[in-house]
Amino acid sequence: MKKPEVLIVGAGIAGPALAYWLARNGYRPTVVEQARQLRSGGSAIVVKGPAIPVAERMGILPQLRELATRNRSLSLLDPAGKPVLRLPSSGGSSTVEVTRADLSEVLHRSARGDAEFVFDDTVTALDQDEGGVDVTFRRSAPRRFDLVVGSDGMHSTTRRPVFGPERQFVRDLGLYGATVPLEPDAIDDPSELTMLTVPNRMLVVHPSRTTPLAIFTFRAAQPAPHDRKNIALHKQTVADAYADVRWRAPELVAAYLDHPAPFFDPLTTVRMPSWSRGRVVLLGDAAAATALLGDGSSMAMAGAYALAEELAAHHGDHARAFATYESRIRREVRPRQRRVGLLAGLMVPSTRAGLAVRNTMGRAVGQLHPRQPTPVPIKPA
Ligand SMILES: Cc1cc2nc3c(=O)[nH]c(=O)nc-3n(C[C@H](O)[C@H](O)[C@H](O)COP(=O)(O)OP(=O)(O)OC[C@H]3O[C@@H](n4cnc5c(N)ncnc54)[C@H](O)[C@@H]3O)c2cc1C
Repeated sequence: MKKPEVLIVGAGIAGPALAYWLARNGYRPTVVEQARQLRSGGSAIVVKGPAIPVAERMGILPQLRELATRNRSLSLLDPAGKPVLRLPSSGGSSTVEVTRADLSEVLHRSARGDAEFVFDDTVTALDQDEGGVDVTFRRSAPRRFDLVVGSDGMHSTTRRPVFGPERQFVRDLGLYGATVPLEPDAIDDPSELTMLTVPNRMLVVHPSRTTPLAIFTFRAAQPAPHDRKNIALHKQTVADAYADVRWRAPELVAAYLDHPAPFFDPLTTVRMPSWSRGRVVLLGDAAAATALLGDGSSMAMAGAYALAEELAAHHGDHARAFATYESRIRREVRPRQRRVGLLAGLMVPSTRAGLAVRNTMGRAVGQLHPRQPTPVPIKPA
């Protein structure tokens, strides 16, 4: 019997994970990725919760543990850059922290033997009927698929023609995120994240085995227009936001301004009334992004596993499979999305009083964690 053919749009985290599981469940997956190669950006992310059994069943957990970052603690700094509190990082034996790029690479390596990957291409039109979906591509020849999965991230273009414009589903948290890679010697201690917070702005220096990262998370005085391609505007927005911040801000902003294409995006969540329409279904950030929590990759892996499992269990009844997949993963996503607004206020407080509350809470949370060393309050010198 001919294997059902599934087009997966996007080779981030969700796409390769789904390709792996679909191939094992009797499907023929093709993954199309608009970038020329796997995208390398992103800070470290924690693989945790429902993604751990998925990684175990894929046999990739040992590789991920080998690639794990060495981050052991988070040092919170006062506005002058003096450490005020050192917290153990959120690790533990049931989680593993790797860079997003390493996770994407490991997933791709696991899937590529059984799935077709097409880079430097994208979908230009989708036309579905009772029996399948006709797809046209920017470069490849048109093809018909049984199903199409949009795993093309927060700003999914698969979502637009099928479900409607992005503004209907994307909720702004009022914060911006910007990152830039740093030279390896920009880090003194590879086991420690350092985080400076002043009202409305946070600046993190994030170590990594290979490329450390500076992460800017802030509320802008003037909301920047949502023009994702305007790099000059992104640079100006970051420079303006951190103009009066001390510590390493001048040097890190300079690194941001020097980079040809640093990352910049408003922090948003994606909330959709339904994740499928006919033969097209959404997965990962395209369906339900949970900005800020760093849970997106784990949710993407869990979603990929659930979607492939439900398709296999429903023997080709894609409508029932999509519905059960959605209700399984919504249960995981919903409480996380509820926490995001609160977290945004806690992570980047807008006042000094809010900052003090956050640090007090940080101490309490650190002390409650049974397996971690207790947080160490650091006395000013
Ligand atoms: C470069 C980058 C850096 C990131 N950095 C972080 C981070 O530091 N911390 C964090 O928590 N999360 C980060 N994320 C988001 C995180 O990867 C997601 O929350 C999570 O992994 C969910 O994965 P996903 O596969 O749904 O989406 P993503 O990982 O965003 O992957 C989507 C993929 O789809 C591709 N794509 C987009 N549009 C099209 C199209 N039209 N046609 C074909 N392909 C397309 C993209 O190039 C990308 O490879 C980053 C994402 C990217 C792409």
